[in-house]
Amino acid sequence: MIIILQPDVASDGPEVAEILAAASHYPSVTGKVYSFKGQTHTLVEVHLVGETKLVPADAFSERRGVVRVVRVSERYRVIGRHAGQVDAHGFDYKGEHFGQDSFHLFPGLCAVDEVGYVESTFKALQTAGITTARMGAYKPRTSPYDFQGLGKQCLPWVFELAGKYGVKVVSMEILRESHLDEIRAALRASGEPTGVMLQIGTRNAQNFELLKAVGQQTEFPVLFKRGMGITLEEALNACEYIASEGNRNIVFCLRGVKSHLGDPHRNLIDFAHVPVIKRLTRLPVCIDPSHSAGRRVLAPDGLTEIHHAAADGVVVGANMILVDFHPAPRSALCDGPQALTLEELPGFVDDVNIVREAYLKRVLRAKG
Ligand code: PEP
Ligand code: MN
Repeated sequence: MIIILQPDVASDGPEVAEILAAASHYPSVTGKVYSFKGQTHTLVEVHLVGETKLVPADAFSERRGVVRVVRVSERYRVIGRHAGQVDAHGFDYKGEHFGQDSFHLFPGLCAVDEVGYVESTFKALQTAGITTARMGAYKPRTSPYDFQGLGKQCLPWVFELAGKYGVKVVSMEILRESHLDEIRAALRASGEPTGVMLQIGTRNAQNFELLKAVGQQTEFPVLFKRGMGITLEEALNACEYIASEGNRNIVFCLRGVKSHLGDPHRNLIDFAHVPVIKRLTRLPVCIDPSHSAGRRVLAPDGLTEIHHAAADGVVVGANMILVDFHPAPRSALCDGPQALTLEELPGFVDDVNIVREAYLKRVLRAKG
């Protein structure tokens, strides 16, 4: 059961305290307070969990400060979009707004390798007017003999170069909680030249302890990638681990699911789920066409399959694209075959903007 309070009711104010006191009279029911900072208002919800079937809604709906009481059947109650709840308001980070209406490109290296490659990538982004990027320092590889990423030693110069070229947010995967500490320390030491969106990779989508760890901090937003072999419902529940710990600044990323039915793509592209996630949750939705299509092959129409995969997600309303670029894909130490080149960046941006415009036109037309 979710009790929605009027805008700007304080989470530590008397209205909330009265609700919690009333809830404490029901055995096996606990109340948890969630506060969402929107662009203009702070919104507070009290979530009652446990044996709430026996709790009458009007025990709370008549109380002061309460707008509405919603019974939820889905288990992903915090990220979920339930009847009567506020609209998806998204979040702000480093001057960027991330929501179900925003649109960002996060191009960059799958794995940080050489300083020169990182610098020329950031430079190309700056020329293209892009202030958000991807850079992997910790890589989860299928084989232990493959390049595992440069780890914390590359963080100082990656962050410094990001700042130098005006990159405000870098999406970076972490594999364990100590990586979060390393990122925080490196940012502090370099004077916070940029921001980081913590990426939870598909392999860790159900690493619940890691999900809880990124949920227990609110300094960094989280890009949660759908598990490659789990249902959407399971992925939403996994994502809820982050939100239920207190961090609601989450972007949900689709990256394809493992199935030979997707061959010859690396993964079966699941971007038709973009509108489904927007309907079921209040989260912005990202797509990763690189790890979905998995190979930079040219279709007969002159566009690569990565371009086409990106278009698949953008035309149905994706809010963010995480996409691999590399100045010299043949020399890349990870996922070179799926990287687009920096020369292809302006064309990719143009192509994506054409599709985004088409999406916005579709929405306008549908709204009449
Ligand atoms: C990545 O984005 O670098 C990555 C490893 O992706 P995924 O977790 O989706 O495989
Ligand atoms: Mn990769």
